[in-house]
Amino acid sequence: MKQGYYGDWGGAFVPEILHETFRQLNEVFAAAKRDPAFWREYVELMGSYSCRPTPLTCAENLSRRFGGARIYIKREDLNHTGAHKANNVMGQGLLVRRMGKKRVIAETGAGQHGVATATMAAKFGFECTIYMGAEDVQRQRPNVFWMEKLGARVVPVTSGSQTLKDAINEAFRDWVANMDSTHYVMGTVCGPHPFPEIVAWFQKIIGEEVRGQILASHGKLPARVYACVGGGSNAMGIFQGFLADTQVELVGVEAGGKGLTSGQHASRLAGHDASPGVAQGYKTMFLQDDDGQMRDTHSVAAGLDYIGVSPIITDLWQQGRVRMTAATDAEVMEALDLTIRQEGIIPALESAHAFVQAFKEAGELPESEAIIINQSGRGDKDIFTIAHAFNDPSWKEFIRAKGREYAA
Ligand SMILES: *Cc1c(COP(=O)(O)O)cnc(C)c1O
Repeated sequence: MKQGYYGDWGGAFVPEILHETFRQLNEVFAAAKRDPAFWREYVELMGSYSCRPTPLTCAENLSRRFGGARIYIKREDLNHTGAHKANNVMGQGLLVRRMGKKRVIAETGAGQHGVATATMAAKFGFECTIYMGAEDVQRQRPNVFWMEKLGARVVPVTSGSQTLKDAINEAFRDWVANMDSTHYVMGTVCGPHPFPEIVAWFQKIIGEEVRGQILASHGKLPARVYACVGGGSNAMGIFQGFLADTQVELVGVEAGGKGLTSGQHASRLAGHDASPGVAQGYKTMFLQDDDGQMRDTHSVAAGLDYIGVSPIITDLWQQGRVRMTAATDAEVMEALDLTIRQEGIIPALESAHAFVQAFKEAGELPESEAIIINQSGRGDKDIFTIAHAFNDPSWKEFIRAKGREYAA
């Protein structure tokens, strides 16, 4: 197989001028992978700075309610800055230090990756610039505030639609101009090779931990593992613990938005709505029109609202190793409501997508089986979106239509 490809997908479509930078990145990453002391240093850093290993919680009340498999929740929400994103940015921080670079840049849509990167830069003493669509800067004031307090320069991008894809273009432009001093911190398992491999390698800490944890608490492997899929990094993180165990079914859950036939979703694979394309430096299935123009996507969860998907996940889906599904905004609110009330846990809107699918299927399995939901992040950041959605007439209509008694 060609280097940097997963089946047909992936590759590194980058301007010639960046080839030397990519060569250096490949070399430093390969050396880090060969060096057991590097992984040890990473695990120690995550233990002292980010609460690793994160716990595996048995959701006893939810398990009883659905009356099937025992439901376990992997608590990535307990990471520093509130999500699995810490695993990736701290790992890349260690790589940057090895490369001898002093400056990092990143793009961010909702701002979560920007906050995580700015946090890492503060800890490592790097200069930091975050590109963000001007629209998104307006919508995400609290995250912009924290990025700036953490010492990052936040650059609002006013070109194009003033959202994530324009910020990505601008970040690449900066990198080309400053490649000797600067590392581009990719936020997920997407982008040109070797980024998908780098991000997946750091995120595999989730899967390595949880495999041991479920064996210790349940005595055998889980029947199924559920994770939401935006770019695919939390999913790849937990899936890697079980890839070789073919009896463990791996289930990815995309943003079904207002429904797969509404045109307002971000389901690339489950919706059979995307087509192969090359954009943002890599080849995958993109939500695009017949002319290759990227479509507008929608999700109640900003972190899942993305046109592309990891080339690694696209390959695993094509091979039949990962099953892809989608959850709608309304289903997500229902799962969130249940999880909060029954377990006292507030999942991020993104993570709640994985809960939806697990809840749909838990009752199909016998009580002797276990399933694991990857809770990628905590929902505190979503307070206004969640409050607004629960007040929306369409939510009340959804609950009425389901005939569910609802106290709120
Ligand atoms: C960013 C984010 C996601 C989506 O990213 P992946 O790369 O698909 O994991 C999911 N959950 C949370 C909480 C996030 O912050």
